[in-house]
Amino acid sequence: MSPRIAFGGFLHETNTFAPSKAPLDAFIQGGGWPALARGEAIFAAVDKVNVGASGFVETARGLGWEMVPTLWCAASPSAHVTAEAFEILLGELVDAITAALPLDGVYLDLHGAMVAEGFPDGEGETLRRVRAAIGPDVPLVASLDLHGNVTQLMVDSADALVAYRTYPHVDMALTGCRATTYLARLIGTTKRDAKAFRQIPYLIPIAWQATAMEPCKTIYGELAALEDDSVPTLSFLPGFPAADFADCGPTVVAYGATQGDADRAADAVTARVMASENAFNGKVFQPDEGVLEAMALAVGATKPIVIADTQDNPGAGGDSDTMGMARALVRNGAQRAAIGLIVDPAVAAQAHKAGVGATITAALGANSGIPGDLPLEGEFIVEQVSDGRFVAPGPFFGGSRMNLGACAALRIGGVRIVVASRKAQMADQAMYRQVGIEPTEQAILVNKSSVHFRADFEPIAEAVLVCAAPGPMPVDPSVLPWKHLRPGLRTAPLGPVFG
Ligand SMILES: [Zn+2]
Repeated sequence: MSPRIAFGGFLHETNTFAPSKAPLDAFIQGGGWPALARGEAIFAAVDKVNVGASGFVETARGLGWEMVPTLWCAASPSAHVTAEAFEILLGELVDAITAALPLDGVYLDLHGAMVAEGFPDGEGETLRRVRAAIGPDVPLVASLDLHGNVTQLMVDSADALVAYRTYPHVDMALTGCRATTYLARLIGTTKRDAKAFRQIPYLIPIAWQATAMEPCKTIYGELAALEDDSVPTLSFLPGFPAADFADCGPTVVAYGATQGDADRAADAVTARVMASENAFNGKVFQPDEGVLEAMALAVGATKPIVIADTQDNPGAGGDSDTMGMARALVRNGAQRAAIGLIVDPAVAAQAHKAGVGATITAALGANSGIPGDLPLEGEFIVEQVSDGRFVAPGPFFGGSRMNLGACAALRIGGVRIVVASRKAQMADQAMYRQVGIEPTEQAILVNKSSVHFRADFEPIAEAVLVCAAPGPMPVDPSVLPWKHLRPGLRTAPLGPVFG
């Protein structure tokens, strides 16, 4: 008889300092992710999408497993998952897994940096409840985002945690495959690998976690080389440095044939990360300085200069509506410049009502009330409108079916602005094209993203700059008003010590 394996997903990356929480509707909708799906509908929802569950399905199908789909949902990064959303969604996931018993295994597609109201270790509580439902002997394996803040409870509750190795995360589905391949080792046996878990004592800014850049490039290269028959899976997670709870921070998780194997691998990666502390660093421009630098670089360039508006990254909890970079583009007279997404449903509706070719007077953006930010007031020409439904085919979203609600391309001077009704990270060229802006023909592109944009935009970029305009995800995590970290943690590489 073929193994009977339940699978599901519940993903959220929580910036506890962000302006808005994640209610139930955020998961029902999905934000740049597939909308909530139950049972058989999960197969269609994740098909050919770059998420862990699609890798699971593909691998499990190849292995001839009987798959039991339960619940899969994700929401855009934001502040806490509300208590109501957490209890309803986790309750449904656990009930569906319980109803599917007896099972030969469970795979979960999780993030690892979820903070729910009442449960700061969201995935720890998720894995604890699933483990309680299935008992100690049913294999339980989860894939995690590279930004997961792994906790002892997570390690204790799962037989294995397997994390992405790329940022931009082009390997989300591949990680689902790797986790499933590992799960296959555990089916029909009670033998389990030994575990080793290490917490790194400093936070790493997300802008410097990119895995094509040093020091992560070397760290991940060495990590992959350490895997063998005695160390079947090994993960390093740089973590998400905006989740204010005791276990925030980078971690290493190793599984070994013996405790010695697991410890040796975990210690080798930990030593490399410790030796790399001063290398998690890079140049950050202020808005005007960055725009002027981009305008200078654009002279004679054949490809766009791409600027990361990193601190309002909706992939890190921003609402994608701060106007510091848009204002700097307009103020400095930038030409052939485009910025997106600016989330402002009221202005998007106003543009749709006025129609293409009309000029509207609006106070655009800044609805999330980030300190130091103001709307961009002025007259905007409506160049294009769309319903915000399109496919994002680039390597990060990997074919996700987007629904950004009513969208518009507005122009003020030489600056084009992609206005949307729902937030998603500007990590795919299609997000410009859907409102008629051809990204490769722009001199300057400003993307509300920290690193994910690199996957689809570096190939068309002359240069990439990182700018710090107002937003809830500071490029330097040590400036956040931390309250709940563990004493002794450095809040930036070589930075101040908490507590
Ligand atoms: Zn991530």
